[in-house]
Amino acid sequence: MLVSVAPLLREAVGARESYDFAESPIDPHGENAGLLEAGVREVDAVLNGTHTDPGIFVEGKAKASVDGQCSRCLTAIAVPVEAEFAEQYYVTRDVISGASLDNPAPVDAKTIGSDFRIDFTPLLAEELIIATPFAPLCQPDCRGLCEVCGEDRNQRPHQHEEAGDPRWAKLKDLEGFQADRD
Ligand SMILES: [Zn+2]
Ligand SMILES: [Zn+2]
Repeated sequence: MLVSVAPLLREAVGARESYDFAESPIDPHGENAGLLEAGVREVDAVLNGTHTDPGIFVEGKAKASVDGQCSRCLTAIAVPVEAEFAEQYYVTRDVISGASLDNPAPVDAKTIGSDFRIDFTPLLAEELIIATPFAPLCQPDCRGLCEVCGEDRNQRPHQHEEAGDPRWAKLKDLEGFQADRD
């Protein structure tokens, strides 16, 4: 998401502007393709920019769908992610004259180049990755993989009994019954 902030920088300090964008699915050849590399498939974001003394202060909210894997059954899932964030971008040149400013931005600060455009894609990718849950689930009560045979217990709920347990034979019969039914 490439935004020209020159109009906002020409307004008085304190002026605000809102930048909205939504893309679903994200175009692999578009300007937001960088989000796909972060596993983001669709995004809906609102960024509020305020002209501050050193540049543009941005407060944002984003909803996205991010590629993930259920932490119990390992199925590929789309993880809903919501992020709220804020970031200061520093101007490096005067917006009217284009001349370099005397007081440089802090070393690790995000800067606004001579074209007065901000690419919000890296910020969104970073914030959405941070906001993605560490152990997502395909469903709240996912049964996960069987510790004994590795099968997905959502697909085939089952338990393993001790060999020789009379209930084991019963279970076998049940499995046979299910197979016949298929
Ligand atoms: Zn699962
Ligand atoms: Zn099993």
